Amino acid sequence: MKKSYIILFAALWLGVVRALGHGGVELGPNGGRVVEFSKDESLHGEVTLKDGRFHVALLDKALKPVALTEQSLVVTGGSRSKPEKPKVEREGNHFVFQAPKGDSYLLAFQFKDGPKAKSITARIEYDAAICSGCQNAEWLCKCPPAKPAKP
Ligand SMILES: [Zn+2]
Repeated sequence: MKKSYIILFAALWLGVVRALGHGGVELGPNGGRVVEFSKDESLHGEVTLKDGRFHVALLDKALKPVALTEQSLVVTGGSRSKPEKPKVEREGNHFVFQAPKGDSYLLAFQFKDGPKAKSITARIEYDAAICSGCQNAEWLCKCPPAKPAKP
């Protein structure tokens, strides 16, 4: 069981590495990182970090808030060798979970729009380092997509 979990996480990790290197991330109305929670851009999540906890809000096509009802979220994060699954709780209209330790790690979200919905996986790479271009943390970098990839 544990082994298959690690393999799954490695596969998720490879996915994000391939997707990076282009710079430019989508930021939401609250300055958070926007992730895709649908196959057709109709639902998004906005990830913000507040007092050591991540908040995930739901946004519709026009990036307007969506009420949290029957949706569910599973999070995997932390170091590659020892990924953790922080407990995801609900607070008002947000999912919230404790941020894994460290300044740079992968976060994988498995989102379900309802009990019978198919699970959608979205990933971001959290990086607390400050970008020299925009002075935002790298995971919330506002620089245009043309930014050259790091060596
Ligand atoms: Zn930047």
